[in-house]
Amino acid sequence: MNHNLFHTFATKMQERGTANFITTPEGKTYTYADALARTGRIAGALQELGVQPGDRVAVQVDKSPEAILLYLATLRIGAVYLPLNTGYTADEIGYFLGDAEPALFVCQPVALEAAKAIAAETNCPCVKTLGTNADGSLMDAVEKAAAYDGIEQRAEDDLAAILYTSGTTGRSKGAMLTHKNLGSNSKSLAEAWRFTEKDRLIHALPIFHTHGLFVACNVILVTGASLYFMSRFDVDAIIAAMPEGTSLMGVPTFYTRLLQDDRLTPELTANMRLFTSGSAPLTAETHQQFEQRTGHAILERYGMTETNMNTSNPYDGDRIAGTVGLPLPGVEIRVTNPEAGDHQPLPQGEIGMLEVRGPNVFKGYWRMPEKTKAELLEDGFFVTGDLALVDERGYVQIVGRDKDLVISGGFNVYPKEVEQVIDAMPEVMESAVIGVSHPDFGEGVTAVVVLLPGQKLEEADVVKALAGHLAKFKQPKRVFFVDALPRNTMGKVQKKQLRDQYKDIYQNA
Ligand code: AMP
Repeated sequence: MNHNLFHTFATKMQERGTANFITTPEGKTYTYADALARTGRIAGALQELGVQPGDRVAVQVDKSPEAILLYLATLRIGAVYLPLNTGYTADEIGYFLGDAEPALFVCQPVALEAAKAIAAETNCPCVKTLGTNADGSLMDAVEKAAAYDGIEQRAEDDLAAILYTSGTTGRSKGAMLTHKNLGSNSKSLAEAWRFTEKDRLIHALPIFHTHGLFVACNVILVTGASLYFMSRFDVDAIIAAMPEGTSLMGVPTFYTRLLQDDRLTPELTANMRLFTSGSAPLTAETHQQFEQRTGHAILERYGMTETNMNTSNPYDGDRIAGTVGLPLPGVEIRVTNPEAGDHQPLPQGEIGMLEVRGPNVFKGYWRMPEKTKAELLEDGFFVTGDLALVDERGYVQIVGRDKDLVISGGFNVYPKEVEQVIDAMPEVMESAVIGVSHPDFGEGVTAVVVLLPGQKLEEADVVKALAGHLAKFKQPKRVFFVDALPRNTMGKVQKKQLRDQYKDIYQNA
């Protein structure tokens, strides 16, 4: 049996024939039959360029339907797809190419000269380009290549992709994902979220990350549904697409931005059946506001690069704001005491380290056996680095990253708890709570606050407002006001950046 994930996709692609697979707002379209034929041509070109099964194909290109076809063609020939964030600099790319040793690096046409220099330094044998208009030297090679009609034989545990983690501490790690990891998760999500051939997913996420690439595209491919493929998130374009769309997968900032627009109404979203959110916490407030405005309860789910998706709020049943739902079928979770390090489950309801096991959990970090051993335990559980609790109904609540925990005067302060109280102030739009080195307390709880337009608050107002709600050790010692929190493209607040920015504030305190 061929466990190549492309085999599953190809069966669906044949079945769906002239049905639409992908369309862009600019009118570019591929039917499933077109897409299948095109992956054969790209696969042929990759082989002629010397890419062998198991080789890595590193790709740093702008979002386009052809980039998805390149991903599919890479799977088809049994090679390993390695997408890279378009925001990475030459130095970062040098690290990735040196570490992953790809047989081919596909870059943006404008980046060719820089890419060639990096490739020469890192002994990458081949560099090609791919533009957003189906242009570039890779596409020239595709025009000349003979199509490859086969599907390379792969075992379940063979690698399908390597995704580098965003790496907020230390070097980025390459998460090795197998055909089984991706295949099992896409089927499980398609079922859990009731995707069918009739679905039309509005796709506005980047495709170098697990959310936009695997969650969104693989779910569509396993069900034979269609993608409405936007180059980026744009409120006007999303609003224009909703009457024809059935579903949207978003990060929380999609929803906060949509909520700022008066055109978001029950009528606009009448054809939509599902809005999902993930990659960063969705506040209960945003969840509730969205439901009030549209009648749709956003379905929040939780996952990460290393594990694909782990938990999801139910399709039928209560979608509880502020939770990431229940473990997906086949996924086991446990919450353990990170200090004890014994990986024994804590009593239900206690906060601890979330660990997960299942067919979705990756194979390890590329060429990092020590890191793999530390985080992927012998019994198969992966230590996620997220602090969480499971409530009495079995719903998981993510409290934050372990490394964002603030330890002040020996007490644990969970930033989310403090952020929730600050966010509840009527003047506040959002906040981030961080730990900053403090001579007396080890770390001082520090709040960075964004006010709603036209609102005014002083540091003392926030401190006073929190006094009755939080124990003294949890109250921020300093409060700063900013226009916006630093976020990455997936909407995650960059707490490391904030910690760096405020690192000296208590030094002369
Ligand atoms: P990444 O590997 O870039 O996908 O980041 C994974 C991390 O994002 C997780 O470990 C969580 O810390 C965070 N994350 C993902 N989904 C959620 C969610 N629904 N709520 C809170 N945090 C989330």
